[in-house]
Amino acid sequence: MKKLIVANWKCNPTSLKEAQKMLLQLRSGIKKTKAEVVICPPFCYLPLVSYKMLNVKLGAQNCFWEQNGPFTGEISAQMLKDLAVQYVILGHSERIMILGETNAMIAKKVKAVLNSGLMPIICVGETLEEKEQGKTFQVIEKALREILQGIKKQQMEKVIIAYEPLWAISTNQNNHKNCSPDDALTMALYIKKLASEIFGKKAIQTLRVLYGGSVNVKNALYYLNQDAISGLLVGGASLNIKEFLGILSLI
Ligand code: PEP
Repeated sequence: MKKLIVANWKCNPTSLKEAQKMLLQLRSGIKKTKAEVVICPPFCYLPLVSYKMLNVKLGAQNCFWEQNGPFTGEISAQMLKDLAVQYVILGHSERIMILGETNAMIAKKVKAVLNSGLMPIICVGETLEEKEQGKTFQVIEKALREILQGIKKQQMEKVIIAYEPLWAISTNQNNHKNCSPDDALTMALYIKKLASEIFGKKAIQTLRVLYGGSVNVKNALYYLNQDAISGLLVGGASLNIKEFLGILSLI
């Protein structure tokens, strides 16, 4: 299976013009990629990506759990599907820390996404404090059990999980806060073991576990070389198209 590389643009760029420029740059460099590439821009640029790009799939950074109704400011999975979105990032730590999303809310969103036939990319990860207290496995287990509650075995083939340790997200390379490829591998294997305990071995045969957290062109290959890591969730480095194309060229 191809490695899956997901670009999370977060709340960037600030103008349509800039987004257009990034996509044009991406389009000319992406033709020969051997990876499965998903671009997750802010909602307002989604139609632009589907229109401008050939060799990439479209992802959203969030969605609501209801399909329509009196929910001011929300966007549903069904609306995203209509825009040709295939993937939805859910449970990102920035939404948990800044906007107060809970595992119960994320669980509802995962169900809505799956029921619309889209693929959720579920982010899980521990804080630095939890890591230092030796609670990493406990935190990941609690999150996954709560978020995956009620998901049917057959739906697991559409689920993607990203291990994103919070202490490694958007850190500067020089402060030694990168997750080692060995630790990322340990967590990918742990997530698969846990999912297998919940859903059975057969249901998780196709489960893809990604790594995310300060991935760049210098360290990407260390993670990609691990068989149990099916790809990468790239934040900051995906905004620098030259660097993002550099990551893709490693595959
Ligand atoms: C992220 O926020 O999902 C992420 C991986 O960000 P960064 O690559 O900037 O650490």
